[in-house]
Amino acid sequence: MATAALSMTAMAQNTDFNYSVDRFADIEVLRYQVPGFEDLSLQQKELVYYLTEAALNGRDILFDQNCKYNLMVRTTLEDIYRNYKGKKDDKNFQAFEKYLKQVWFGNGIHHHYSMDKFVPEFSKDFFDKQFAALPGAEKRAAEKKVLDRVIFDPDFMAKRVNQADGEDLILTSACNMYEGVTQKEVEDFYNNLKDTTDLTPISWGLNCKVVKKNGKIVEEPYKVGGLYSKAIEKIVYWLQKAATVAENEGQRAYINELIKFYQTGSLKTFDDYSIMWAEETKSEVDFINGFIESYGDPLGMTGSWEGMVNFKDKAASYRSKLISENAQYFESNSPVDNRFKKKNVKGVSAKVINAAILAGDSYPSTPIGINLPNSNWIRAAHGSKSVSIDNITDAYNKVAAGTGFNEEFAYSDVEVELMKKYLALADNLHTDLHECLGHASGQLLPGVDQDALKAHGATLEEARADLFALYYLADPKLIELGIFKDKDTYKAEYYKYIMNGLMTQLTRIEPGKDIEEAHMRNRKLISEWCYQKGLKDNVIEYVKRDGKTYIKVNDYVKLRDLFGELLAEIQRIKSEGDYEAGRLLVETYGVKVDPAIHKEVLSRYEGLNIAPYKGFVNPIYTPVYDKNGKLIDVKISYTENYIDQMLRYGQDYSPLTH
Ligand code: ZN
Repeated sequence: MATAALSMTAMAQNTDFNYSVDRFADIEVLRYQVPGFEDLSLQQKELVYYLTEAALNGRDILFDQNCKYNLMVRTTLEDIYRNYKGKKDDKNFQAFEKYLKQVWFGNGIHHHYSMDKFVPEFSKDFFDKQFAALPGAEKRAAEKKVLDRVIFDPDFMAKRVNQADGEDLILTSACNMYEGVTQKEVEDFYNNLKDTTDLTPISWGLNCKVVKKNGKIVEEPYKVGGLYSKAIEKIVYWLQKAATVAENEGQRAYINELIKFYQTGSLKTFDDYSIMWAEETKSEVDFINGFIESYGDPLGMTGSWEGMVNFKDKAASYRSKLISENAQYFESNSPVDNRFKKKNVKGVSAKVINAAILAGDSYPSTPIGINLPNSNWIRAAHGSKSVSIDNITDAYNKVAAGTGFNEEFAYSDVEVELMKKYLALADNLHTDLHECLGHASGQLLPGVDQDALKAHGATLEEARADLFALYYLADPKLIELGIFKDKDTYKAEYYKYIMNGLMTQLTRIEPGKDIEEAHMRNRKLISEWCYQKGLKDNVIEYVKRDGKTYIKVNDYVKLRDLFGELLAEIQRIKSEGDYEAGRLLVETYGVKVDPAIHKEVLSRYEGLNIAPYKGFVNPIYTPVYDKNGKLIDVKISYTENYIDQMLRYGQDYSPLTH
């Protein structure tokens, strides 16, 4: 059964799929597949379609939240782009196109990650001429003056979100969530409103801009009839259609509650919606649509508009369920001392989803996992939804496989082939075992403080979960369950893990720095410990060839034994709360970097010319109607490129500018 379910995913994935779409500045744009869409029921497809329309119509909101000039800049640049009659290979035009692509990607004039303003590489003269050639340009002199400053003055609106301590974060940030107010005024305003004894507080400021009117501070809510009304009306229109084809009453109820929130702007209603959403777990199709994450606000209150539609990946969710159901086998057979094992272990079943559309703050740059709602008291009292987005991760992996990265760093063709063949599945299983069983396994001895390992707790906890996963990847049980078909599958993950831990993860560390992040320390700890302990049997070796260093794994069976040995020791440290032993492990194996290897890795990586940031274009969904206007199918296609999609969205999903 499991085998069938798993190969279903494999079949649904088109192996000739062209993932890479565009490359400019520090960005690579990809496309993603939506496996399983064709297998949805007609009603589910219809639901997905309406929800994708609701998602796409919020795009302008985010542009305006990010900076009040963004929509003016975007529409002008798009007009010039369409109107341009000169040569396509003109240097200025090419620089102009690059800038426009950056503005699209950043949802405005600032970089999505660094928050710094983009620097145009085309001349002011080119811009002047192109602007003058636009129909009606002579009547837009005032606007042109503003655009000149916004685009060409590097000091004007230089940073979208400023977090520098000691400065007025509102006055020095270019985002458009406040106007005419200082940080102090806003903080006083909310401190006056907040009741610190309230155990179920609303998310203050989540859906509004704060401004000064007649000398008084007021909130301007985003809602029907308020700010962004035109866009929100469209969103509501499509959500209302979605409610008519909801999968069940629970889902219909939360969609209607979200509509009510958009109509009233009431944050109490938003909390009610969030609770209903978190508690409704039966539907296969699900979505996010609203003001969610607050990284775009220097004070961390206002939510950036975001949309995503997704549905359950049945094959992958089945895999994680299968592992969870066998949790006791894995717990009872682990190499850990019996005193530290759970007598009754319950695996955590993680939900795996495929994204159907990315929008707003999730587009084009997107997360690979979601954990919502953000409100702490709602999470504690009503739970949260935690999902990983399989088709996005898959696209990242497929593209990484084509960069020449493994060819550059792997010891030989044997390892490259091993990873090509098995790494995608082995990697997924590693994540499943880590999340569903690793963290859930083991127990503390009575009286041991769960925070006993203090600052090293996070690194050691990640190491424990990783080691549990690594140890069981090579267990015959995975073959017996039908999850792995080939007994060599685990070797792909073992090789990648050691190569990454000892070498390639150093690409993310600046020269001269130690390893600080907990996951990275854990990977170094495990790899370095296994290298040192395996020296006498030559389990892992560094090989020099043509001036380059490679990792060679000589004995995979012994490597598994070492993983088991270290798992037993780290579980002992955790169960007994042995702080000193934990500290020594982390400090000895997990922190220090060999500067020569580090330098070599960085320079080899640079030679590969891999874009540091990636994002996605969406598929196109086309409804098919019969002659009576009844929807009878929704078709999906993956043909659109980056420029065409952006221009189309600018025309068809732009309620605030058209
Ligand atoms: Zn973890």
